[in-house]
Amino acid sequence: MKAPQIRTLFTRLREANAEPRTELSYGSPFELLVAVILSAQATDKSVNKVTGELFKVARTPAAIAELGIAGLKPFIKSIGLFNTKAKNIIATCRLLCDQHHGMVPDERETLEQLPGVGRKTANVILNTAFGQPTMAVDTHIFRVANRTGLAAGATVRAVEDRLVKVIPTEFLVDAHHWLILHGRYVCKARRPECPTCAIADLCRFRSKTRVDS
Ligand code: SF4
Repeated sequence: MKAPQIRTLFTRLREANAEPRTELSYGSPFELLVAVILSAQATDKSVNKVTGELFKVARTPAAIAELGIAGLKPFIKSIGLFNTKAKNIIATCRLLCDQHHGMVPDERETLEQLPGVGRKTANVILNTAFGQPTMAVDTHIFRVANRTGLAAGATVRAVEDRLVKVIPTEFLVDAHHWLILHGRYVCKARRPECPTCAIADLCRFRSKTRVDS
């Protein structure tokens, strides 16, 4: 996709939603970190349900570390991979207390040293909690970027690098959420809603759905 079309694409997404937000509920960078760790292979809705209860009881690294793995598990047992996630969250809380004064770091390298935090999670935290122009490519963004021709790539990292390169600076901080929401609600995996899609004329997907299909 050419630069003027990319600009038009994001202008339209911005017109439809001037202030896109994550659908995870959180009240601090730390709460967002816990929610994002829990969200791997889980829906935002299911994560919000468990964090709603957990954060009533413990909402700081020290308080969750105090719960311990055994104390944390009952809160998160409805989420997939909860055993591993419990271990990672407790280890992360201890590290934050021991090495970062209980604060979530705003640097990629340090974030990626936390248990359960990979590049994608670090990108979400840097972008959503700290307003940095990073791009966390999840399954929705990967699909939208490839279908539209915005940033075609065979791997998540290739798509991430391409998106960061081609998206105009003024759109970059919010682009992550616009693309996720577009993929989640319009450019859906099984049946994209092409007839009502605001960027259909810019999109290069060859198998667009039609009203009567
Ligand atoms: S036209 Fe269809 S395939 Fe292209 S972005 Fe819109 S919903 Fe997705």
